[in-house]
Amino acid sequence: MDDARLKLAVQKSGRLTDPSLDLLLRCGLKISRGKDQLMAYGENMPLDVLFVRDDDIPDLVQEDVCDLGLVGLNVLEEKRLELAATGAKARFQQIRTLDFGRCRLSIAVPEGVSYEGPSSLRGKRIATTYPFMLARYLRERDVQAEIVTLSGAVEIAPRLGRADLICDLVSTGSTLQANHLREVETVLESYATVIRTPLELPPEKNEWVERLLMRIDGVQQVRESKYIMLHAPRSALAEIRRLLPGSESPTIIPLEGFPDKVAVHAVCRENVFWETLESLKKAGASSLLVLPVEKMLA
Ligand code: ATP
Ligand code: ZN
Repeated sequence: MDDARLKLAVQKSGRLTDPSLDLLLRCGLKISRGKDQLMAYGENMPLDVLFVRDDDIPDLVQEDVCDLGLVGLNVLEEKRLELAATGAKARFQQIRTLDFGRCRLSIAVPEGVSYEGPSSLRGKRIATTYPFMLARYLRERDVQAEIVTLSGAVEIAPRLGRADLICDLVSTGSTLQANHLREVETVLESYATVIRTPLELPPEKNEWVERLLMRIDGVQQVRESKYIMLHAPRSALAEIRRLLPGSESPTIIPLEGFPDKVAVHAVCRENVFWETLESLKKAGASSLLVLPVEKMLA
């Protein structure tokens, strides 16, 4: 392995794979990835992508095999607690929050089973792949319960008689529904993150980390942002500025031949919905145009 190149760990195949690769692509990275290849070479950046199981990412960064990793907060938190249980401290540093991989670690009970708060968990068997986070949750609420640690297929544990209820990741809730389970408590709100090694990197490598992070920030801002253009009577400007969602200082341009009117151009840091356009029109705006933003660098 070439030590002058950054190594970034990404989930090999799973829910984080496509959004992670899409993010890197939008950051301008060109990689060639052969089928089933473990590593992809960055053609236009000194950065290689390693494809691994998401659970291995904290360790790879912790042990300095990789400099960076894209991984869910759920995996990170569990790892932190697991390390803490042995008296060790996590060495990876969480340096960014990403806008994908949203889910929550939740407790769910079979339909028809009554639930009246955490005390209902007392003495129950709870199946999970996140024993450390569940144990902390129970400990903080002073509830004694049996944690049944499984490596997968948690949602069918109650039907198999292996547990009374479960603690598992949920996003839309459709898996729970399909398994006749009802979500009752949230243990952790999760999303994808960027982690890095605590080691000081050589300046050239560090510079690339900074550049990548800046591009990631830009990509994430752009995803939310719209460029809006409209015409407005000068008298309505204050109201129109108030209505523009998340815009700092719009550009006001005079309109040739219309002394009472101006053109307003603004970057809105939030999505612009039909309702906003309708309110702007009501306030006197006309010729409204909303454009996607392609790139942004603060
Ligand atoms: P691997 O083989 O890499 O260990 P996995 O089965 O652990 O795969 P996935 O199910 O692909 O992983 O989930 C990867 C990550 O995606 C989770 O750790 C979590 O951060 C995030 N995620 C988002 N929504 C969900 C969901 N509904 N269920 C599970 N994970 C989700
Ligand atoms: Zn996993």
